Amino acid sequence: MSKKGRVFSGARPTGRQHLGNYLGAIQNYVALQQDYDCIYCIVDVHALTTVETTQDLKQNTFEMTVDWLAAGIRPEESILFVQSHVPEVLELHTYLSMVTQIGKLTDLPTFKEKVAQQPENVNYGLLGYPVLMTADIVLYKADIVPVGVDQAPHLEFAREIVRSFNYRYNTKVLIEPQVKHTEILKVLGIDGKAKMSKSLNNHIELASTPEETTARVREMVTDPARMKRTDPGNPDVCNVYSMHKIFSPAEEVEMVNVECRRAGIGCVDCKKRLASNLNTHLEPFRAKRAELASRPGDVQDVLNDGAKRARLIARKTMEEVRQAIQLP
Ligand code: SF4
Repeated sequence: MSKKGRVFSGARPTGRQHLGNYLGAIQNYVALQQDYDCIYCIVDVHALTTVETTQDLKQNTFEMTVDWLAAGIRPEESILFVQSHVPEVLELHTYLSMVTQIGKLTDLPTFKEKVAQQPENVNYGLLGYPVLMTADIVLYKADIVPVGVDQAPHLEFAREIVRSFNYRYNTKVLIEPQVKHTEILKVLGIDGKAKMSKSLNNHIELASTPEETTARVREMVTDPARMKRTDPGNPDVCNVYSMHKIFSPAEEVEMVNVECRRAGIGCVDCKKRLASNLNTHLEPFRAKRAELASRPGDVQDVLNDGAKRARLIARKTMEEVRQAIQLP
């Protein structure tokens, strides 16, 4: 069956993935493979704009690759590779930077946020981040980029850069990527307040053991108004309930919904049930992960093969790009 087009998406090498990564991105990556030719990239060069030290970069890339594969990225169909393994992207980034106005880059809210976050390290790469991101997408002639609503302006900016390039060099060689709006699930951390994230240590790792997972679920913050077991609770404001809705069978979700409100179920029991359902859900993933992690050479082969296939596309695009610019 022919596919509907080419999808590109990238993520930084953040190491072992957590439930937030899984529900917010990986699950969607896996599903897109059904209808699209997918290119998934671990953007290690982007990571250099913020990381202080690179000693974990290799291991983080490995762990993330294993998680993605175990979750269902199929390397025999999709291209999975590491950004720096295809250095053509850096050349394209340079050419695109010539058609990008600095004022536009400094005006971007994401740049301002980064400056506020790391005032002691406002590097040139931070400013050029959206240009490198554009190079990532257009180098592989991606038609579609799956993004959440909040990221749509980034893609619009990428489209603007493409238009500037094509106009400047009177060409159509670069394709304006289209947004595929996806419902990116925002998963709260176990603190029930902020988005699940490793840096906030409010996450549940996919690769955790069942015992570790159960312990993390036990720590989850529930309805803050429910002080005692005999107090009725409100599942609508409880993150444990939100997770039940994702991982528990419908009858159990309904039972929690009803019983919580009349103090028929306690939070300890409610969490035990969630942990059990979550562990059942993650069982196949964990088995596959353990098997993959025991064959690091094969995992590296997946990335090498991905880079080879990505590079074929990249080289062809760069030939066209150089020709369009009329480089001697
Ligand atoms: S019983 Fe469950 S849904 Fe209700 S407050 Fe406790 S943990 Fe949350």
